[in-house]
This record gives sequence, C-alpha cells and structure tokens, in this order.
Amino acid sequence: MRFNSKRRSVLRPRRVHIGPMKTARAARAEAGPSADQDPRWAAVVARDPRADGIFYYSVRTTGVYCRPSCGSRRANPRNVRFHRTRSEAEHAGFRPCRRCRPDQPPIEKRRAAMVADACRAIEAAESTPDLASLARRAGLSLHHFHRTFKAVTGLTPRAYADAHRARRVRQGLRTRSTVTEAIYEAGFSSGGRFYAQSDRILGMTPSDYRAGGSRAEIRFAVGECSLGSILVARSAKGVCAILLGDDPAALVRELQDRFPRAVLRGGDAAFEETVARVVGFVDAPALGLDLPLDVRGTAFQQRVWRALREIPTGATATYSEIAARIGAPGSARAVAQACAANPLAVAIPCHRVVRQDGELSGYRWGIERKRTLLRKEGAA
Ligand SMILES: [Zn+2]
Repeated sequence: MRFNSKRRSVLRPRRVHIGPMKTARAARAEAGPSADQDPRWAAVVARDPRADGIFYYSVRTTGVYCRPSCGSRRANPRNVRFHRTRSEAEHAGFRPCRRCRPDQPPIEKRRAAMVADACRAIEAAESTPDLASLARRAGLSLHHFHRTFKAVTGLTPRAYADAHRARRVRQGLRTRSTVTEAIYEAGFSSGGRFYAQSDRILGMTPSDYRAGGSRAEIRFAVGECSLGSILVARSAKGVCAILLGDDPAALVRELQDRFPRAVLRGGDAAFEETVARVVGFVDAPALGLDLPLDVRGTAFQQRVWRALREIPTGATATYSEIAARIGAPGSARAVAQACAANPLAVAIPCHRVVRQDGELSGYRWGIERKRTLLRKEGAA
C-alpha cells in the first residue's frame, strides 16, 4: 500500500527510526523548524540552478545532501536542512547525492571541460583522431561522447576536425609558398581529398582563394524597399547577400567586410531585374524567392540556415527548437549566433526565430524590421 508523503505525515507521527542510518547529529536536526519557512526552500522547489553553489540541502530520511537544482523527488520540507557549504553538510553526517553530485563541479562545467579537452586533442593531432580514442580519453562510452560533444559544440567530432583543418588551410594558403604545402600541412592526407571539399570549405578553389579571390566577382546594387535600404549581391552561383539598413553606404561597407577578396561591381541593367525581384520578395515574403542562393558559412551555420528555411511563412520557432531540429539540443546560443551571422535577410528567415517567452529578441537588421516582417506574415 502506498501513501503520498503528505498523507503519511498525518497518519504516522515522525519517528527517529524510520529511514536509513543516521548519525546522532543528523537526528538532532529534526527538532528544527520545517524548511518551508526558509526563503531557500523556494529555490529548492523551483530547482533553481542559480542557487547552486550558494547553499546545499540535506534530507534526513535519505541521508544525502543535494544542490538546489537536483532533479530528484521533492523531499518533505520537514526532513530538509540547509547548509552553507559541502563540508558543513558532510560534517552533519550526510553523503553527496549520486544524482546531482554536489561533491563535484556542476555537470555543465564537467561536460564543457571534457569537450574542450577533446577539441584540443583534435587540434593537436596530425590527422583526425578516431572517435573511440577520444571517447576513451574522456572516460565515456562512444555514443555518450558523441552526443555530449555535439550538444556542447553543435558539431560532430568529425565536423569539428574538418572545420579545424579548413581553418588551417585558410591560414596556410596565406603564408605557405604552394597550395599543396598548405593542404598537407593542414592534415589532409591527399590533395584530392581536399579539392573534393574545397568549394564547401573556402567557397572557391584554393588557387582563387590564394589569388585573393580576384576571380570571384560579385555584382551588387542598393535599392529601397518597405523596410528601408536594401543591398542585393549576386555571385556566379546565386544571390549571396541581402542586407537591410538605413544607410546605403554602410550596406556596401558590410558587403565589403563579408567578401574582402572579391571584386565588387555595381549592378548593371541586367542585374537591376534581380534586385527588383528580391525587393518584391522582401515586401511580400509569402510569394517566395525564385532565384538560386549562394549560401556561404560554416557547416554549423549552414545547418541552422537550412532549418530556418523550413519554417513556413506565418510561423515562428524558438532558438532551442531550431537547435533540437538540427540534432544539437543545448546549442541554442550557437543557433542565435548563426542567426545573427545570416547574410541573406528574409530569404533565410531568421526573423521567424523568437525567444522562448514569445518576445522577439534581437534581429540583425533591427527589431522594428523584425516586428514589421512578422506582422506582414501574420505571425505577430
Ligand atoms: Zn541530488
């Protein structure tokens, strides 16, 4: 027969011999007032992680002490005592809880330290270390390691290793005397393997990159739309930037920062038509944009941006929903950063991402523009 704890306390008076072993000191504690009279109890009820490290609480009936955020079953406040430090709780005869591990650094810190260590190992290795040895080093199972790494960085260990080598190639191409030297130095085992990915990594061939991207020509024009000034730019592959703002000159500077090595050419007559189509699309996003896009970003950014493009007109999503959709729950902050780095306003609808509480939060092109866009789409 089971009673809920409230009922049991009515039916049976508190007796010292109920529950596991207790020390004399812990037993003495029961004479104290019920914990729900203490302001700290509210933090325990809310499992507030901000209270972690400020105090600990112990439960007389189980003999353990916890962090305020512990996810274990709520204790009866009559059995709860507060302690300012771990050692105070341990001196009173309580053991650390095995769930919230109050005797160890918080789980996020341990996870972050473990992942940082794995990242350093990947960076220091000549070639990509295998997953099994990284997991062993972290003291985790293969599956758990993979999941934790992805939750913290937003990338799989392999994608992280690829991104790191790509960074090294970029640096190498600027300083090494030959392209091949730069590629091998960055840890690619063959030139072929690098060339197969170079377009994705550099957005152009290595020789073009080395030549300062001189052959990459970007045409652009600045116009006006219902949201203010708009800059539209197009590479040989497709529309590569849609920027919004109040000051046309600032938009051109932003384009230059984004494509420092490209040759920027002001739009010609043929290009004006592209601009007109983009302006029409920004003014009425529901129409859709029937132009190819040239989306350049890191592997993680690309995944976020793909997920954004799947949010239908008139709908919104939160940063953590997007993180979950791309299979990297816990990377909400990185998702927000990817939204802020979006080069294609409206075409990649980062304006459809809102905060958990429904607040609009930031928008790279100003919160008022975000509000206007959402209202236009019927989402706000
Ligand atoms: Zn606990």
